[in-house]
Amino acid sequence: MSDQVIITVATTGAWPGKKDNPAIPLTPGEIAADVYECWQAGAAVAHLHMRDDQGQGTMDKEKFRETVGLIQEKCDIVLNLTTSGDLKATDETRMAHLIELKPEMASYDCGSMNWGHNDVFYNAPQFLEKLGQVMQANGVKPEVEIFDGGMIYNSFYYQKKGVLKAPLHYQFVLGAPGGLEATVRNLVFLQSLIPEEATWSALGIGKGHLPILYAALALGGHIRVGLEDNVFYSKGVLAKNNAEFVARAARIVREMNKVPAKPDEARALLGLKTKGERQ
Ligand code: ZN
Repeated sequence: MSDQVIITVATTGAWPGKKDNPAIPLTPGEIAADVYECWQAGAAVAHLHMRDDQGQGTMDKEKFRETVGLIQEKCDIVLNLTTSGDLKATDETRMAHLIELKPEMASYDCGSMNWGHNDVFYNAPQFLEKLGQVMQANGVKPEVEIFDGGMIYNSFYYQKKGVLKAPLHYQFVLGAPGGLEATVRNLVFLQSLIPEEATWSALGIGKGHLPILYAALALGGHIRVGLEDNVFYSKGVLAKNNAEFVARAARIVREMNKVPAKPDEARALLGLKTKGERQ
């Protein structure tokens, strides 16, 4: 078990607005400045969503391009772009930024589910096949997002089919309404299902945030924090910014005799492709 822990920051997500937490970064400039602070605080990976000029989730590849450019001027953090930033986006729009920008990582949501008891999060089999192929063709490492146990078995199916290539990297997303609750028992269950060679990370939305963070570290996993998942830092207290979450995570990692991985260490742990290999 390596003592390096990858801290991913999920800065923005598709839903929270300034009314939920005024600190949430929405524009390319705000997101880039926020990511830079998080990198200084110990984040190795930034998971990015874009918003349109009205603040709604968008898969507009020009917003991704602008934001990625601004971040890369300032630091070497690993970029992990969402493929699920707008429930109404077409399959093509969800993949266009991967083909153009060839990011090191992107999310791969390994199944469909009801979303927030009022919508459907579609990840149809045809889309997942195409998405896996597009990622392979462009050298993008999938972060296989798991909201429910069945999604792990989907990932085995796509691995067998060659759509996903081992070793897989999983992100256990716990506490999303419609998916598994953010409990330590659920995390232990999910982690027990994946192969030894896989790497994994976890996050808890809401009151499960810290229990999942501590449990993931205890089980040898990596962790994700940020305003996408939690607008509150503690009960009734809004987070000042994303860097506050990252700084706390880095502190806890060190208290547990581990070290926050640097971006290049995260690249090695996850087997990411170099820029040359992604062309
Ligand atoms: Zn996301």
